[in-house]
Amino acid sequence: MTLNIILLGPPGAGKGTQASRLEDEHGMVQLSTGDMLRAAVKAGTPIGVQAKAVMDAGELVSDEIVSGLIGERLDQLGGDVSVIFDGYPRTAAQADALDEILDVRGRKLDHVIELLVEEDALVDRITGRFSCATCGAGYHDRYKLPKVADTCDQCGGHDFKRRPDDNEETVRTRMAEYRAKTAPILPIYEARGIVTHVDGMADIDVVNDAIELILNSATAP
Ligand SMILES: [Zn+2]
Repeated sequence: MTLNIILLGPPGAGKGTQASRLEDEHGMVQLSTGDMLRAAVKAGTPIGVQAKAVMDAGELVSDEIVSGLIGERLDQLGGDVSVIFDGYPRTAAQADALDEILDVRGRKLDHVIELLVEEDALVDRITGRFSCATCGAGYHDRYKLPKVADTCDQCGGHDFKRRPDDNEETVRTRMAEYRAKTAPILPIYEARGIVTHVDGMADIDVVNDAIELILNSATAP
């Protein structure tokens, strides 16, 4: 059975990891509009040519072009491939457009899966992270310090590094951006009863199992 799903989740929820698993284990294809746009421009498809002209003129790619891009990609994939929409739709108009794109191809949106994170727990998890500058081994200020102070357990190195993005302000800003981006579309899909929430703070395998359960469950008619 062909599935069409939207996977949502704020930075740190593990959306990329879960999407890759679905690709590897089920041959699903992740459709990210940015990637599709670059690929279409490069391949010089009809929509790619249109998009390039718009971008070369310094203008934003319209919803019509994005819709065309998704349609073009779905037609390339054929009717038997299950897809994961990533970063689209972002507005009510795009959600309507997606319904139409799917409908004319005998597809329908089966599930919207949102990976949830608890913001304070995410801040706690991310702000303490650091790693060995030599071998990359991961540590945490509160949960996983090296056994010997300032010495890497793996390689004995003494240099450690922190990513500049791993601070509370960045995490909270990204969460706020995520909420603003999904606010226009979540209620539309909730009204249809196709939204399911999964605890993104759980272990990767547990999250994967939860997603599998949703994909195997009966879908809306
Ligand atoms: Zn090391």
